[in-house]
Amino acid sequence: MAAKKVVFSFEEGDASNKKLLGGKGANLCGMTQIGLPVPPGFVISTEACLDYLGSKKKGLKATVMEQVRSAMVDLEKKTGKGLGSAKNPLLVSVRSGAAMSMPGMMDTILNLGLNEDTAKALIKQTKNERFVYDAYRRLVQLFGSVCMSIRDEAFDEVFSRIKKDRGAETDIDLDADGLKEATDAFMEVFEKETGSPFPQDPYMQLEKAIQAVFDSWMGKRAVDYRREFNITKDMANGTAVNICTMVFGNMGDDSATGVAFTRNPGTGENRLYGEYMINAQGEDVVAGIRTPKPIRELRRDMPKVYPELEELRHTLEDYYQEVQDFEFTIEKGKLYCLQTRNGKMNAAAFIRTSIDMVNEGLLNEVDAILRIQPEMLAQFLHPSLDPNAKADVLAQGLPASPGAASGRIVFDADRAEIKAKLGEKVILVREETKPDDIHGFFASQGILTSRGGKTSHAAVVARSMGKPCVSGCEAIQINQHAKEAVISGVTLHEGDVITIDGTTGNVFQGQVPTIEPEFVEDLLVLLEWADDVAELKVMANADTPEAVAKARKYGAVGIGLCRTERMFNQPERLPIVQEMILADSGEERKNALDRLLPFQREDFKEIFRIMDGLPVTVRLLDPPIHEFLPAAEELVSEIENLRELRKTVEGMSALPDTLKLLDPELLNKYAANLESLNVGLSELKGKHLAEELVNNKEVMLQKVRSLAETNPMLGHRGVRLGITYPEIYAMQIRAVLEAAAETLQEGGKVSPEIMVPQVCTQQELKWVHRYVEEIHQDVEKTFKIKVPFKFGTMIEVVRACMRAGRIAELAEFMSFGTNDLTQATFSFSREDAENKFLPLYNERGILQHNPFEILDIKGVGRLMAITVEWARKTRKGMKIGICGEQAGHPETIRFCHHIDLSYVSCSPPRVPIARLAAATAKLTEKEFVWV
Ligand code: PEP
Ligand code: MG
Repeated sequence: MAAKKVVFSFEEGDASNKKLLGGKGANLCGMTQIGLPVPPGFVISTEACLDYLGSKKKGLKATVMEQVRSAMVDLEKKTGKGLGSAKNPLLVSVRSGAAMSMPGMMDTILNLGLNEDTAKALIKQTKNERFVYDAYRRLVQLFGSVCMSIRDEAFDEVFSRIKKDRGAETDIDLDADGLKEATDAFMEVFEKETGSPFPQDPYMQLEKAIQAVFDSWMGKRAVDYRREFNITKDMANGTAVNICTMVFGNMGDDSATGVAFTRNPGTGENRLYGEYMINAQGEDVVAGIRTPKPIRELRRDMPKVYPELEELRHTLEDYYQEVQDFEFTIEKGKLYCLQTRNGKMNAAAFIRTSIDMVNEGLLNEVDAILRIQPEMLAQFLHPSLDPNAKADVLAQGLPASPGAASGRIVFDADRAEIKAKLGEKVILVREETKPDDIHGFFASQGILTSRGGKTSHAAVVARSMGKPCVSGCEAIQINQHAKEAVISGVTLHEGDVITIDGTTGNVFQGQVPTIEPEFVEDLLVLLEWADDVAELKVMANADTPEAVAKARKYGAVGIGLCRTERMFNQPERLPIVQEMILADSGEERKNALDRLLPFQREDFKEIFRIMDGLPVTVRLLDPPIHEFLPAAEELVSEIENLRELRKTVEGMSALPDTLKLLDPELLNKYAANLESLNVGLSELKGKHLAEELVNNKEVMLQKVRSLAETNPMLGHRGVRLGITYPEIYAMQIRAVLEAAAETLQEGGKVSPEIMVPQVCTQQELKWVHRYVEEIHQDVEKTFKIKVPFKFGTMIEVVRACMRAGRIAELAEFMSFGTNDLTQATFSFSREDAENKFLPLYNERGILQHNPFEILDIKGVGRLMAITVEWARKTRKGMKIGICGEQAGHPETIRFCHHIDLSYVSCSPPRVPIARLAAATAKLTEKEFVWV
């Protein structure tokens, strides 16, 4: 039986099959097939990678190498060159490329095919010894580090020494002799570190390189990256290997290499954006080793090539209908495109390009919605520097990824991780970053580098994460070992606070105040398109008029959860709440409640005014009542302190006599002060303040102890409290309905909804419903106006799900409180689970997500689906939503759309994300699988 085909030339590979050929490979095939100038090459498929990684036998299968050899022969025919030929040598690059782009996470080897013979042949051919040794020393280093795991530092140290000896400041300053010396020295490093010489057989080089690229799929940084970005096997499984004829940007001043975006990935502006370096190889740009020039200067440097680059940009966008991030090389005046992929952009750029591309006819509105991951909109929440803040700029680098951040300096990724785990905000400061630093990116607020351009590793990775980054800030000298940096004469140490502004490139000493971002007009347009498509409505959880105003601004079409207990937190309200709790008689309690009522009523009125007739769901008091009282331990220690104070006051009156005995001179010195202090203290004693306070605190302590519960979250809270203290709920119901009545009288519009928490039986609802009816009648009579309202319930108890049919007889609407419902379904206490065992559960794959962040659709979701079905059997088309924290998460939203909820309600800043996610859920509903 013939071996499975795993090698595909760029001419024959299926450009639409990224899973098989990887994104890079598929695009190389696509570009070749539409006639773009791609150097000839072939792809080894991801299937070959999985086969290699899964096989017990070491090494590549003979059948794979046979196909590789045959493809090499074809390549030799196409190029007229030969691998290992001492006359006209063929050099190739060996690059990784999985179905999902994972920039810099896997390995690449360039200039493969060079050995002593081919190097000589190439010198003869090109008459450019410098170029050949430059390429050769790169191969030895890359091959050494990638295939043989030699540390980069081993080569870097040697290279720095050679540069120093020869008085060369940069790599470019080294002449042919210098680079030859470097090549020889690298060979020695290679032999010393591996025990064998650098392999001269090009096929051996090739085989080892292919294996190394396959191995890098399981390398730590690639595995970390996939975990962080939730790249599952369905999305990308294994890497392909792309073998491509080398073209050289380092062949002299008519050669160059660069990285470009078809549009600006920071702003979305429709202009070619990128950087290039004359006489350099691609890795110099990406690794940020030298600071490149902005692409517009190429127009002057190479006026013939620049228009070709512009044409390439348009062809790429027309074909891919997406912003492209491409690499190019100009070899002796001829342009080549070496790879392209969809551009990673920040949210602002994504949105602007979406709107522009729809206007240009390149995309339609649906494409525009689908090309943005809803979660990206969170970047609009990144703060920027307060323009009114006065701060002196310490240095300026390149604005590599927008947004501002402050934090304590750390000089390496490991320290960043350690400090962040301790809860510190850190800024990672490095000369340049490498893919190995990825964990430091996750841990940092922002990144500052002293070298590298806007397409350096630091810049690209930070942008994709939406983290602020300033790169190429050459004014900083970093001393990694001493953990210090000198910027414009100021020495900064690890732990010192700096602020970076990735929008301007500025760096400041200390913390500079920041402000919340404003919505851009383009986002509003996009969200309107999303609203037209979405079926789920998006509401917000907001408890104060300020939060409600924010929710409305972000486009919430109602308040799905107003937690009334949060309205008691202001300093002037809390003491009244405490009075209510401590009351000895019903009358005293009513007195306190009467004083709370106006506060609540006014807040509700303001909320109704802001929402202007949109639904406002007010949830009656939920948490256990002792949450409003101080903790018992706190009271005990305060009482002890007060008693101590009493003793101290008494002791103070004897202090002058005691001092006289001990040190009369000291007494003389302070006699006047002591005298006046004692007068003050005896006045205090006379007022008996401490006694009074101690008594009050003791009463409070007694109450706190009597209210204490073993498991308060499963105790006396929610509707249970409303039934035992009916006057509390009565006050809240009255406040809602009176606020509605007053608003209506003033000509406003209202849609109040009263929601009962923690319900588990219809009987509980009946009790509350009775008060609601009574108060409603009373309010309508008093205000002489009809007050519309809805009565409904939270569903956050498993029994309520099971009794949904009965509960729906009384409840006009339901809202899943998935915070509690998740606790109840898993029997996990959220507070304990999240910092004790859940992280480990996620790490070990016992649970895929934290169910308190992303809804557990298999368990909690199943309960919800049953509830919806039973509730709507009783009440057709019943309004049912969700207001737990998970409701703002796109995956949860997708599920909520699937079970036909009416709305999701999330925190105000997540409203835009939810609006986009609701549209995406509708547009991708056919692909949803619920297992
Ligand atoms: C819930 O349980 O999901 C909910 C919204 O209520 P809370 O978080 O206030 O308990
Ligand atoms: Mg709850």
